Amino acid sequence: MLLSNDSARQAQENVWRAALRRGMEFARFSPDLDGLKKDETTDVFYHHGTDGKMIVVISGVHGIEGIPGSLVQQSLFRGWGWPEELSVAVVHAFNSSAFYNMRRTDKNNIDLNRHFSETLDHNPDYAGIRHLVEPEMLTEDSLNIFRNLPKSEMGAFLATVKGQCEFPEGLFYGGKERGPSYEMLKNICSFLHLQEYKEVVVIDLHTGLGPYKVATLLSPLLSKTSEDAVRTKSWYGDGVNFINVKDNGVVSSVQGDVAPALQRLLPGVKFTGIALEMGTNTIAESFPALIAENWLYNHPELVNKVNPALVTREMEMFLKSFAPVEDKEWLKALKMAACKLWCQSIIGLGYELY
Ligand SMILES: [Zn+2]
Repeated sequence: MLLSNDSARQAQENVWRAALRRGMEFARFSPDLDGLKKDETTDVFYHHGTDGKMIVVISGVHGIEGIPGSLVQQSLFRGWGWPEELSVAVVHAFNSSAFYNMRRTDKNNIDLNRHFSETLDHNPDYAGIRHLVEPEMLTEDSLNIFRNLPKSEMGAFLATVKGQCEFPEGLFYGGKERGPSYEMLKNICSFLHLQEYKEVVVIDLHTGLGPYKVATLLSPLLSKTSEDAVRTKSWYGDGVNFINVKDNGVVSSVQGDVAPALQRLLPGVKFTGIALEMGTNTIAESFPALIAENWLYNHPELVNKVNPALVTREMEMFLKSFAPVEDKEWLKALKMAACKLWCQSIIGLGYELY
C-alpha cells in the first residue's frame, strides 16, 4: 500500500468497519482547531467490562504515525482477544489535524508529544541549533550541514528533541500554553470514566525511533526503581527504556508526552503507561526529512523556489521515516510487537490469555 492523500481517510474508514464488526461502542472527538473538517475526528471505540480495569491503545499522537498505528488497531479489532470483563478503549488518530494532513504536528505546528507537561519549560539547547533545523532557505547545502555534523555536536542537537516552547515554526514545538488538544484529552478521560477505574494501562503507538523494524519500548517514568517502574519491567521486560531517567541510552528525554498527562488526570488510579516505537530510518535520513517537511509547511510562499527534486525526495523520506507501511515485513514486525505488548498488558493485569 503506497501512501496517498486518501490514506488517512481510508484508515479511518477501515478502523470504523473493523470496530463496528467487533461490536465496539464509539464516540467522536475533535479539538477546537481552525480549519479542521467536521469528519476529521479523533475516534474512540470502547467496550466497558465489569472489572474496573481498562487498556487504552492510542494511535496518531504524531499524526502520520497513526497510519501504521491504525493498521495495528484494525488488527486488534479483527483478531486480538481480550476477556469480556476487561474494558478496552481504542483512540484513533489522536492528533487528528496532523493525521488527516499527513504531518506529525497539528495545525499550529504543535508536537502533541511535547505539549502535555505540567509546565512548558524553556529548552536552552534549542536556540543554539535553531539555525540548523530552521534554515532560512531549504537547499541541499542547508540539509548537508546537518548531515555532516561532527559526532561531537550531535549530542547538543539531540538534546533539542525533548521539545521547545519558544519557536512556533521550529521542530518539537510543544506550544506556549496548553491548547484544545489538552481539553480533548480531558474530555476523552471523562467520557470513558477513566477516573472511576481501579487500573488503567495506556499503550501509545509511535514510529520513527530506533533501527529499522526493531521495536523499542519507552516508559516516561522518572525513576527506574519506583513501584510503577518495577511493575512496568515485570510486565514488559528489562528492555524497557526509561527515557526520562538520565543517561537512558536512547535518543533523548521527552517533555510533555501523553501518558504522564493521563496519569496526572487520574489521581489514585493504578496506572501503567508504555510507548511502542517501531524503528524506521537512521537519524541521518529522517532528520533532514523532518527539517524539510517542517520548513515547507512554514514557508508556503517560498516552496516554488526550492529544487523540486529535493522536495520530492525529502517528502518521500518523511513518509518512509514515519509510515513505511508498503514494507510488509516492517508492518508485520510492528503488529507482532504491538500484539506482544497487548498480551503482556492483559497478563500483567491478572487475566489469562485465551
Ligand atoms: Zn511519535
